[in-house]
Amino acid sequence: MSELIYRTATELRDLLDRGEVSAVDVTEAHLARVQSVESHVNAFITVMDDVARAQARAADERIRNGSAGPLTGIPVGLKDILCTVDAPTTAGSRLLENYISPYDATVVRMLREQDAVFIGKTNTDEFAMGSSTEHSAYKTTGNPWDLNHVPGGSSGGSAAAVGAHEVAVSLGSDTGGSIRQPAGFCGVVGLKPTYGRVSRYGLIAFASSLDQIGPFSRTVEDAALVLGAVSGKDHCDSTSVEIDVPDYRAALGGDLTGVRIGVADEYQIDGMDSRVEGLFKRGIEDLERLGAEIVPISLPHTEHALATYYIVAPAEASANLARFDGVKYGLSIREDTLLDTYLRTRGEGFGAEVKRRIMLGTYALSSGYYDAYYVQAQKVRTLIKRDFDEAFEKVDVIAAPTSPTVSFEKGARTDDPIQMYLSDVFTIPANMAGIPGVAVPCGFVDGLPASLQFMGRAFDEATILRVAHAYEQGTEWHAHRPPLDEALGLASPS
Ligand code: GLN
Repeated sequence: MSELIYRTATELRDLLDRGEVSAVDVTEAHLARVQSVESHVNAFITVMDDVARAQARAADERIRNGSAGPLTGIPVGLKDILCTVDAPTTAGSRLLENYISPYDATVVRMLREQDAVFIGKTNTDEFAMGSSTEHSAYKTTGNPWDLNHVPGGSSGGSAAAVGAHEVAVSLGSDTGGSIRQPAGFCGVVGLKPTYGRVSRYGLIAFASSLDQIGPFSRTVEDAALVLGAVSGKDHCDSTSVEIDVPDYRAALGGDLTGVRIGVADEYQIDGMDSRVEGLFKRGIEDLERLGAEIVPISLPHTEHALATYYIVAPAEASANLARFDGVKYGLSIREDTLLDTYLRTRGEGFGAEVKRRIMLGTYALSSGYYDAYYVQAQKVRTLIKRDFDEAFEKVDVIAAPTSPTVSFEKGARTDDPIQMYLSDVFTIPANMAGIPGVAVPCGFVDGLPASLQFMGRAFDEATILRVAHAYEQGTEWHAHRPPLDEALGLASPS
C-alpha cells in the first residue's frame, strides 16, 4: 500500500470511489510515511493520527453510502494557523503553545464535513511572518529536495509535507507570498486565490486586507479540486464574496491557442539569479510553443510593492496581534500589575521577527507618521492595483517568476531581514492588488526547483489554473520526485 503516497488527490479520489482502496488504507500509508520521514523533514508541529484514523473510518462509511465529497478520505495537511477544535493551533508561536480553539476555521469545517483526513498541523513561521519557516518557535522544516535547505515560508510545513508525500494536499495562507514561494521552493503547485474567494474565518490574522487561504498540491488538477472544496461566501467573514464558484477541474484542458500572456519588464530585477531568469525565459518560450500569444506589458509601480507591503502588513499585524496580551488567549505570565503581565507575556511569548513587525507597524501608525507612511502606502497600493487593471485589458494572464532565487541554505538569511524580505518581491504585488496567483514548477537549478507564477483577474482562478495546467502537461517538471527516499536510505516503490 506504500505506493498510495505517490498518488495525487485526484487519483486517490478515483481509487476510493471505485472501491479499489479504502480511506483507511490511504490514511495508514500516509501515517507510515510520516513515521519514516518526519524526523528529517519536520513538516508538522502536531500529527493528528487518532483524528485521521477516525476520519478515515467515517470516510469509508460515506463512500459506501454514496455521499462522498471531492476530498472525502484524502490526506490533508493544515497550516498551524488554521483553527481546529481537536488539535492545538499554535501559529508557530510560544504565545499559543497548547492553545485549543473553541471553533474550527471555516475551511477546516468545510473539509471536516466531507470527512477529509487531517494528517496534522504544519509548521509555519511565527504568525506567518517569514519566508523560510525558520521563524517558527518549534522547529526548522527541511526542503524535501535538500534537507539542509529551507522549504520557503511562511507555509513551509504545508509545502514540504506535500513535496515529501506525507499528505496528498495541504492548505496554507498567503499574505505576501507564503503559499506561492514555498510551493516554488519545494517543487509543488501553490495557489493564492483572489482576496474574498475563500473565507478567512478561523485563520489567525496577520494582515487582514492581504491574507488568503489556498491549496498546495503536486498537480494543478489537485489545486483545482481543493480550491473548489474551500471556496465560497461565508457569513462569518464579511470580506468573503458572494460569487459563483465554478467547477475548476472542468475548466482545465485544451491548449493555449488564443490565450494572451503578459510579461512585464519590471519583473527583471537586480539580485535575480541568472539561472532562475533563464528558466523563466524558457518557460515563456514553452508557453508560446503551446499556442499562447506573449504580450509585453508594463506594471510601472511594481518596484514600490515590497516597500509598500512592509508598511501595510506590519501596520495591520500590530493591530491584530494586540489581542495576545496574556489575558485572552494562550500564554499568560501573571505579574503584579496588568501592564507587567502584558509586557512579560508579550516579551517572552513573541519571537524576534514578530516583535520587529509590531515595532514597524506601531511606528507607521503612530500619530504624526500615519499620513507619511500608512496613508501614503495605501495610495501606492491603489496605483499597483491600477497597473494590473490596465494590463488585464490587454492580456488574460500575467506570467512572472515566483521567486528571484531557488531555496537557500538553512541559516543563510536569518540574520538579514532585508534579504529574507526580498524573497517575496514577485509574489507581493498580487496580494496588494487582491488578485489570484498560482505557482508551478519550471525546472531546476543545482537540483533545486524553480517556479513560474501566473496571475489573473480577480475571481478568475479558472483561467490561471487552465494556463498552469496546459504548461504543466506540456512540460516534464511535475514528473520529477525529490531525492528524499535516496537521501534517507528508504526503498522507493515506483
Ligand atoms: N514573507 C512575507 C512576510 O514575511 C509574506 C508572509 C506571508 O505571506 N504570510 O511578510
